Amino acid sequence: MEQEINRLSLLSMQVEKESIGTAIQAKETFVQLGEFLTDPIMLSSKKRTITIIGGGIIGLMAAYFLQKNGFDVTILERKSFGAAASGRNGGGVLALGRELREIPFARLAIEIWDALELDGIDTKFVRSGNVMVARNETEKQKLLAAHDLYQASGLTVKILSANDIKAFLPDIDSHIIMGLFSEADAQSYPFSTIKSIISYLRENGAKVIDHCEVLEFKTNQQEIEYASTNKGNYQSDAYLFCAGPWTTELCNKLNEEIPVLPRRSQILVTEIMKKRKIHPFVAGNSIYLRQTHAGNILFGGGGPWETNGYDVSNTNFAIEFLTKRFIEIFPGYRNKQLLRAFAGTVELTRDHLPYFGKINSWDNAFISAGYNGHGYGMSAVMGKLMAKSLSNHFAGKVNPVETTILSDFSVARIVQKAGDQYV
Ligand SMILES: Cc1cc2nc3c(=O)[nH]c(=O)nc-3n(C[C@H](O)[C@H](O)[C@H](O)COP(=O)(O)OP(=O)(O)OC[C@H]3O[C@@H](n4cnc5c(N)ncnc54)[C@H](O)[C@@H]3O)c2cc1C
Repeated sequence: MEQEINRLSLLSMQVEKESIGTAIQAKETFVQLGEFLTDPIMLSSKKRTITIIGGGIIGLMAAYFLQKNGFDVTILERKSFGAAASGRNGGGVLALGRELREIPFARLAIEIWDALELDGIDTKFVRSGNVMVARNETEKQKLLAAHDLYQASGLTVKILSANDIKAFLPDIDSHIIMGLFSEADAQSYPFSTIKSIISYLRENGAKVIDHCEVLEFKTNQQEIEYASTNKGNYQSDAYLFCAGPWTTELCNKLNEEIPVLPRRSQILVTEIMKKRKIHPFVAGNSIYLRQTHAGNILFGGGGPWETNGYDVSNTNFAIEFLTKRFIEIFPGYRNKQLLRAFAGTVELTRDHLPYFGKINSWDNAFISAGYNGHGYGMSAVMGKLMAKSLSNHFAGKVNPVETTILSDFSVARIVQKAGDQYV
């Protein structure tokens, strides 16, 4: 039975531990965060400089919104921009499946992604929807409970019967007994997004520097004075750490212990199928999948069975395991060829929530990292929130949202409790 329940592994919300009260709170948080983001930006009298360390999607989105908020931005990436997980992911911009406390952020993220396309960023964003499928009664009960909680949190979700799903996904296995659908959830293409943000940044005067590794910091008691790299020293008013799975290593350079666990996650790609029959994101049976515009199906999954660390080789185990799970839900695709496979490193935090805000007692060091395998989607809202918070910081203003909602994600919460573990 335990094995059956685990097949809904993409439902990171633990329904049995959540309450309607938390869901209602999430709905209120959405409104408060939305108001915070639409508050006029507080511009300080002087143009502020910021150095962002890490050129994944989290650093790039933050750079994009900081630039828009009037900051003079430098972004440093030790390899190529998007070389890590940000260029090796499924491109899902999803709320369904997330923890209730993340729902307000995920809902806002979807709205912001939508607006990015209008702003000229080539995200190839499509509100395709996202469906989680149940194969047995246990999974069905879990999805029904999730439906009530998500609905109360303000995320519009719909229950699909077996027939509804068949109409929607004609090739799906007939043993699928129900689905939970979120219409707002979306997909985007990581490489066009990354490329487009970099062009925007360069056109607007940001310093976008690749193959530039931050090696150490020169500090005084409370502040970073400059960052030393293989390409020289970078000095600015503030420093934003967006190093994803390398967060622990980077923060150690400031003598800060900020734990993340790096873990591999793999994706397989099928040959092109002439007809595009899968439009929404699909999750269930321990995998997630999407069909690209070209017709390939990308399917992947991860979990405690994966290797911890930075190895991004594909493994025979994953190829067999993920393919078996894929064919179980789409048996008609059993003879399709696999074209290729790739893998990336996600970073896990013990409580599944990101680290966001000021780094402890350092006056000019900030962090946005620890997105537990869904940072691609979250990047838009977290970038915009960071730009807002930093504008307030330099204008000497504090919004109550920062001391209530956002402070829950501060690194100050890191006190390891007995029994805490990464899942
Ligand atoms: C297979 C797979 C599928 C996924 N699918 C999805 C999905 O569908 N939807 C979703 O929302 N998320 C998905 N994710 C997760 C998502 O990709 C990550 O959460 C997100 O990319 C994290 O972005 P980041 O910028 O924090 O980290 P990264 O992309 O890891 O970037 C961190 C960067 O920091 C750089 N860096 C580190 N140290 C230094 C230093 N000292 N100096 C300079 N640079 C440094 C690194 O080189 C790296 O480029 C998936 C991930 C994987 C691996």
